[in-house]
Amino acid sequence: MEYRVLPHGGDKISVIGLGSAGLHSATDAEVERTIDEAVDAGVNHFDFIPSEAKPLAAMGRALHRHRADVHIQVHIGALYGGGAYAWTTDAKPAIAEFEQRLAAIGTDYADFGFIHCIDEDADLDRVMNGGIWDYAQARRADGTIRHLAFSTHSPHIARRLLATDVFDLAMFSLNPMYDYTDESEYGQGEVADRMALLREFERAGVGVSVMKPFAGGQLLDAAQSPFGRALTRTQCIQYALDKPGVVTVLPGVHGTADLHDLLAYFDATPEERDYSVLATCVPQSREARCVYCNHCQPCPAGLQIGLINKYYDLARVGDELAAEHYRNLARHAGECVGCGHCDRRCPFGVEQPARMREIAAYFGM
Ligand code: SF4
Ligand code: SF4
Repeated sequence: MEYRVLPHGGDKISVIGLGSAGLHSATDAEVERTIDEAVDAGVNHFDFIPSEAKPLAAMGRALHRHRADVHIQVHIGALYGGGAYAWTTDAKPAIAEFEQRLAAIGTDYADFGFIHCIDEDADLDRVMNGGIWDYAQARRADGTIRHLAFSTHSPHIARRLLATDVFDLAMFSLNPMYDYTDESEYGQGEVADRMALLREFERAGVGVSVMKPFAGGQLLDAAQSPFGRALTRTQCIQYALDKPGVVTVLPGVHGTADLHDLLAYFDATPEERDYSVLATCVPQSREARCVYCNHCQPCPAGLQIGLINKYYDLARVGDELAAEHYRNLARHAGECVGCGHCDRRCPFGVEQPARMREIAAYFGM
């Protein structure tokens, strides 16, 4: 397992976590086995929001067994009264359900207490003024919620919530389909704005847990993918993990077979993780943009090209930590010898020698 550190609080979070959206199709025994196996494999981050009530009890039992070793995302605004998942901004049922979820795990705290799935201004206003906001702040103050978090598909709402300066984690939908097409209402915002938002998360020290990394499975199936070709789970996971701010990717699973498919990411070769094939699928913007994919490696001068570009983009929006990371690299942009190897390899049309000169001038190194 690989881990990343949550900027606020320093929790070590597994880069692959577990979503629960598919677990309603598993038996209770399979649900518990899946969580047990995931923990054995080093997974320590779990979303507790299945799409039906059915697996809640089994999930609660399994998460209770591993309580000290896992982080759990518990949402304020998800309901299960009718047997299926439902959504609300009504404080009374939302709070009652949140407390029932903690009781189902047999715990008195949530590692991440979520302002849940807000995509519209009017809904956010109801959360802010209708009781959910005050409840979340109070539970954060008394330790029932260790970290405040939110989930949204909207960059606009994400920015409103970021501006409150109280959050440590954001759950955001992230995959190539949402970034480059208008095929889903979940992928709100243009790619440049979505990327800018991820940089804002990183600069604010708000970690990102990624939902819908496979676009609900559409990207894994050539017939359903808007790109007309299938990507692998490993490529989609790498795509998300390369983006600024991302600490973990939470694909939904139906059971142990899905879990094993996810964990294959850690045995994948660099070629299997490479998603630069996307360059042949997505509309090319007039300005070629580095997506940090590292397809252009190795650089004969030893430069970490994707990382240098990522730190530069972050530093330019005021991320001092990223600037510091850049300064601490073993090799800097000024050491580019202009060989052009990366330009010949880059499927996204980025011209790095010019970019490296720009980066070197920016940092004055
Ligand atoms: S220059 Fe091109 S190949 Fe290299 S990391 Fe950036 S986008 Fe990927
Ligand atoms: S042009 Fe510069 S960054 Fe690109 S491979 Fe050559 S030395 Fe490395």
